[in-house]
Amino acid sequence: MPTSICPECSEEVYVEAEIEQGDVVSCEECGSKLVVVGLDPIELDLETGDDVEDYDSDKGFDDYGYDDHY
Ligand SMILES: [Zn+2]
Repeated sequence: MPTSICPECSEEVYVEAEIEQGDVVSCEECGSKLVVVGLDPIELDLETGDDVEDYDSDKGFDDYGYDDHY
């Protein structure tokens, strides 16, 4: 499985072998959402949240109950 480096915490991030540019992955180390901006080598950039198209991959976020405080 290919890896790249998280721009946020500099840890290795595992990505799908069939990943495509524009896909969003999550860093398991710091939880940042990372957009694939390059494939050879794989480059990741922080998801800014401006155009979140891959929201389904982030379902786990609700489990933390952050919304309970608001
Ligand atoms: Zn990270």
